[in-house]
Amino acid sequence: MIGQFITRLLPQRFKKAPRIYSAAQHTIRADAIDEAALSVVRRLQGAGFHAFIVGGAVRDLMLGRRPKDFDIATSATPEEIKPLFRRAFIIGRRFRLVHVHAGHDVIEVSTFRSAQTDEEATDEHGRLLSDNVYGTQAEDALRRDFTINALYYDPETEEIWDYVGGVNDVRAHRLKLIGAPTTRYREDPVRMLRAVRLAAKLGLTLAPTTEAPLTKLATLMRNIPPARLFEETQKLLLSGNSQETIAQVRRYQLLPSFDALLNTPAAERFAGIALAHTDARLKIGKTVSPAYLFAALLWPAVTRERDANLAASMKPAPAFITAMDTALEEHARMLAVPRRFQGIIREIWSLQPRFEQRQGQRPYRLLEQPRFRAAYDFLCMRAESQETPSELSKWWEKFQDADADDRKNMLAAAPKSAADTNPRRRRRKRSRTKTATSAE
Ligand code: ATP
Ligand code: MG
Repeated sequence: MIGQFITRLLPQRFKKAPRIYSAAQHTIRADAIDEAALSVVRRLQGAGFHAFIVGGAVRDLMLGRRPKDFDIATSATPEEIKPLFRRAFIIGRRFRLVHVHAGHDVIEVSTFRSAQTDEEATDEHGRLLSDNVYGTQAEDALRRDFTINALYYDPETEEIWDYVGGVNDVRAHRLKLIGAPTTRYREDPVRMLRAVRLAAKLGLTLAPTTEAPLTKLATLMRNIPPARLFEETQKLLLSGNSQETIAQVRRYQLLPSFDALLNTPAAERFAGIALAHTDARLKIGKTVSPAYLFAALLWPAVTRERDANLAASMKPAPAFITAMDTALEEHARMLAVPRRFQGIIREIWSLQPRFEQRQGQRPYRLLEQPRFRAAYDFLCMRAESQETPSELSKWWEKFQDADADDRKNMLAAAPKSAADTNPRRRRRKRSRTKTATSAE
């Protein structure tokens, strides 16, 4: 109640003019802005509209980081924007915006909009159901999530327009929600994940009022539609600082599914290795497949389940297959992993036992599998976490690059069965032969 009352008051309060920082008062220069984005801003301004670079790009530039993309906010409506460009497409239903294509770039141009915070626009938990209302620039600033994400940069005048104190917050390395925190989190619980992700990624401190409600409101995460939850989870994992991000997500108990997955030291160690590899790859500009990452996060659930099945006297093959099914059913659903990813995840897993089969044509057939590379990288992580002997991954590293003769020699010298390379199975086999009547 009080939260809603405050949000209603806010637009009034912020009808005031923005604080404008001149070029001399900050460090962003127009030549740091992408050419395509610059030309879009100029075209819009030339047609008499207001147009600014906004959001993450202004924030990142102020922090001395290279922006991922340059979004534009303007007073022009989509219908007014489109005819100004040769290749521009109106997209989106919930809120319509325009994609302007320039060479290989796509610049996102959105019309200033206001947040609708009256009761019809929210569900029973206070979640915003619609935000499709155009508004003034001041309203556009207020409907954004954090003060540092609500800065507008005009590359013509090199001015920064600040309606919410964002410049001071960037300078203080502070991440602060705009408006009443509880209301803002209720409107869109994804903002809780964004708070944690942006703080970890950019090395910012959460303002006390922004941090305080996190754990208390974590149950609201359940109301996020699955597709959006998966998208945000992916962003958490691909933030480039995933270990710290996941640690914070767990600290505030935002995604209980992570706790369920990482509840043993072995699981935590394996996830730690996967996340460290991901961060390292992203740092050197390599891509990371989300399916691979989810395969890694869910893998401890597979091995746990497989071992339980084996202990219940299931044969190895069905024990493994059933374990994959269970892991996907239980955990992939919680994390809203889409079907198409589940297929890839299962392929990566299914190839793991096949690395142990080093006889006849099998290794050659394994090399030809489309997912061989991913499965091999996965094997290396298993070796690193000491789940499987490093002899095995080293053998495969060599085998891939060996010529035909060397491969033959390697196969002749390789241990003959999985039992020889997998200590756990060797033990089991021995204990079984103890009770069995037939000799090995
Ligand atoms: P990143 O570097 O991860 O892209 P970003 O801040 O640019 O960070 P986007 O998802 O690209 O994130 O969003 C662009 C802008 O839209 C944000 O800077 C913010 O102003 C606004 N925004 C995004 N998500 C929300 C949200 N859930 N609620 C309110 N405003 C949002
Ligand atoms: Mg962005």
